Amino acid sequence: MRKFLVLFALVFVCGPGKAVFPMNGVSLQPDTAVLMPDTAAWFGQGALRMDLVLAGDQSRTKAYLDELYYEPYWSGSPSSMIDSLGFGSFRVKVFRQATGELVYSNGFGTLFQEWQTTPEARVISRAFDQVIRMPFPAETVRVDILERMRDGSFSSVIEVEVDPNSMFIRRNHFTPYPVTRVAGNGDPARSLDLVFVAEGYLEGQMEKFRSDVRDMAEYILSQQPFESYRDHINFWAVESPSPAEGPSNPGQGFYNRTPAGTTYYSLGLDRYLTTARHGQLMDAAANAPGDVVCVLVNTTQYGGGGIYNAHIVGTADHPWSKVVFIHEIGHGLAGLGDEYFGSEVAYEDFYPLDVEPWEANLTTLVDFESKWKDLLDNDIPVPTPAEESYLDRLGVFEGGGYTSEGVYRPYIHCRMRSNAAPGFCPVCQKTISRVIETYLRY
Ligand SMILES: [Zn+2]
Ligand SMILES: [Zn+2]
Repeated sequence: MRKFLVLFALVFVCGPGKAVFPMNGVSLQPDTAVLMPDTAAWFGQGALRMDLVLAGDQSRTKAYLDELYYEPYWSGSPSSMIDSLGFGSFRVKVFRQATGELVYSNGFGTLFQEWQTTPEARVISRAFDQVIRMPFPAETVRVDILERMRDGSFSSVIEVEVDPNSMFIRRNHFTPYPVTRVAGNGDPARSLDLVFVAEGYLEGQMEKFRSDVRDMAEYILSQQPFESYRDHINFWAVESPSPAEGPSNPGQGFYNRTPAGTTYYSLGLDRYLTTARHGQLMDAAANAPGDVVCVLVNTTQYGGGGIYNAHIVGTADHPWSKVVFIHEIGHGLAGLGDEYFGSEVAYEDFYPLDVEPWEANLTTLVDFESKWKDLLDNDIPVPTPAEESYLDRLGVFEGGGYTSEGVYRPYIHCRMRSNAAPGFCPVCQKTISRVIETYLRY
C-alpha cells in the first residue's frame, strides 16, 4: 500500500553479469521450474497468469475475467504452495477440478480496495486491472478469488475453471526487454527474487538503470532482516525503455507512456506514486523469474507505493529514495501496514476498530494474542505510553494505520512509521523474515 517513505551502504558484488533471458517462453531455464514429486501431478513448468478487472464502488466489488496467459517463469518455492501467512485483502485458491483438493493458495492486495476507502468511491464506480500469478497447472483446476470483507471474513468474487490445454491461454505476447541479474546468484526456486522494471529511463540510460538497481540492492542487503538473507536474494533488472524521463505527473501536466504506467497523484495524493496498469507492468516483468515485482522510477521527486504481492514502486534519485523503497518493500513483500497517522491520507476508516487487522504490525487489541503479545516483556503496560522510557522497547503504542486512536503499533520508531527511523522494528523484522523464509523452502 501506499505512500511514502537513509543511509548508505556498500556491500554487494555484482552477479553473473548481463544475460538476456529467453523471450516468449521459448526455452525455459531448468532451475526455475517448479517440479517436486508431490506437486508435479498438478503443476508443470512456468506460471499461469490470470488478468481480472476489479470494479465497483465503496461497498460493492465485482470481478471479471479478462485474459489467461502462460508465462515462462515460476520462481516460488515448491514447498510453499499453500499460504501459511494469511496476509492480504484478497486471496487466490486453486483446487484440482477432479478431486476438489486445495493445491495452491496465496494472499494479495489491490489498489482497487485502497481506492474503495477514498471519498471518490462514494460517488462513482471505477474499474482496476489486477493480475494474479500462480504455478501453471498440469490438469484442470478451479481458481477461486476471494475478497476479505470489512468484518474480516472472506467472500468469493469470481471462480474460473482453467484447462491448461485451452487454446485461449495466450502465449508469446511478452515484450522482449533484456534482463540482467545485478545481484545474487541463488537458484530462483530457493531464493527471494526481486525483479526491477525500468520506468522513465530512456533507451540510452540503461547503464544508469542497472547501476541504480545495484545501489538499491546494496542498500537493501545492508538492512535487517535482509542482511541476514543476503545470500538468498536475487535482484533482476528489466531494461524497459520509456520515450521520456520520469513518470507521469498530472500535477505538472506531464504524461509519459512508460512501460509500467506509473503516476504521481494516485488516489489523488501527490506523493503516491504507483500504477493502476498492473497488466502492463506484468507484461514487462514476465521474462524474469520474479517473486516480487518492483518498479524503479527515474526521477528526483519524492514518492512511492507498495501493494502486497502486487507491486512495489519507488524512485531512484530523491535523497530519501532508498528508505522510501525499503518501506514500500515492507508493504509489497510482507504486507506490513503503515505505522504512521495524522497525514493527509485520503483513506476513510481504513481499519474498522472492532476487527483485528490482518497486517502483522498493527493491532486494534481485538485479537492481540494473534500478534506480538508473546514478545512483550512482563513489565510493559498495554497500551504503552509513548514516553522516553519506552524508546527502543517493544510495546503497544497508540496511533498507526492512518489514525491516532484505536489502532496500535509495536514500536515508537519504525521504518513503517517514518523515514527518520533507524530501521524496521522487531515485529516488522520478524514478519519480513517469516515471509522471506517461505521463498527459500525447498
Ligand atoms: Zn506506507
Ligand atoms: Zn514496525
